[in-house]
Amino acid sequence: MRIIEKNGALVRTLTPAEQVLVEGFVLNQLDGHRLLQANQWLMKLRGAGQWLACDCQPAALPVMNVTLNSSTGTLFLKNNPGTAEHAAHCPFIKDAREPGSASEHDEPPAAWLAPDVPLRLIGEFRSSGSAPGTSNASGVGTRKEQHRLLSLLVTFIEASGLNVYATDLKKDLTRQFAELRSVASRYPLVERVPASHYLETRIDMKHMMMLKARLKESTAFGSQRRYGLLLDCVNEVRTRKVFNGRSDNGFDFQGYHWLWGGERTSGPLLALALYSPTTAGSQYYEMIHVATVPVLSRAQLFPVLREEEREPLKMLVSLIDWMAGKGVRVVMRRPVIGGDVMDELVLSSNLDRVLSVSLMKQPLGPEPSSDTFKRLADFKSLDTFSKYVAGFFMRARD
Ligand SMILES: [Zn+2]
Repeated sequence: MRIIEKNGALVRTLTPAEQVLVEGFVLNQLDGHRLLQANQWLMKLRGAGQWLACDCQPAALPVMNVTLNSSTGTLFLKNNPGTAEHAAHCPFIKDAREPGSASEHDEPPAAWLAPDVPLRLIGEFRSSGSAPGTSNASGVGTRKEQHRLLSLLVTFIEASGLNVYATDLKKDLTRQFAELRSVASRYPLVERVPASHYLETRIDMKHMMMLKARLKESTAFGSQRRYGLLLDCVNEVRTRKVFNGRSDNGFDFQGYHWLWGGERTSGPLLALALYSPTTAGSQYYEMIHVATVPVLSRAQLFPVLREEEREPLKMLVSLIDWMAGKGVRVVMRRPVIGGDVMDELVLSSNLDRVLSVSLMKQPLGPEPSSDTFKRLADFKSLDTFSKYVAGFFMRARD
């Protein structure tokens, strides 16, 4: 078993003692002190935003994340959506399902997409006479294909670390988009065509024309449908238009708008659009589908689940900066992959303290009953909450 970063980089292999501990945990063989030890170990991994990759298969790495069961407050190991299967003899084969989790809803949660595997975000054109298949004549693709655009956006956010805030990790907007570009270089649109080659990080006529010119001249797509990506921080998406302040009329798109968090939240939003010819053989290109994730500000693309989080999130960011000035480094992470407890923010310090918080007034589901989970709404005011969080981390200094 190995510990990996979310971009797939190896952190280290587990020691034999850790391997025994984690196996005992998934086989439900631990109690008392050992169970506590296993929970602390997993919480630390979760706090660090790392995953476990299993060595049971010779050619593939099944990847697991540490998930908090929000009804019981207990931790469990869950196979990442779309990850490789474990070998038949592997103790980690069991995939615990949380009752009532987002996986049972209509839309699957946005999943992590593995790098170096062709994305194929859009289906080929079909002639109108063909049998109803996976794509339709207008080429908007199946819902599953469309939904992958949202998964790609959250994967980009996760892999580029935009969902992590720490004072010393603060980057300007140019650097944040540079990180997104560099992650995109690991994702081929089709075989051997990195997404970064056909990605523009601004939605306006000029950049669409540049992308269209490159796509038209490209030989890389062979006989496959050509498409590229547009990424930008926008104000609003409504009535099949993207508004970003670069045009009064907005920019049209043809297909669907996929919202992370499943609910409309006001901007700014990080938007990823798929750009392709609208019909077979056409020289007319258009944005087809758009996926968006609300972000904290135009300067900071940290994901926001709901509008009501904006003000307290800004407070947490200032508080983290203040604590950094006092020598306590606190890292705040927002899980964006999967769909469980999306309102949760995990704060961890260099002094081994981990606190998870929700800034939502109402729980989205059953709450974790752990001591280290706090809800802003249970405090008298934002100020008392802020004092609690500061106390939680600063106390550990003494
Ligand atoms: Zn395994």
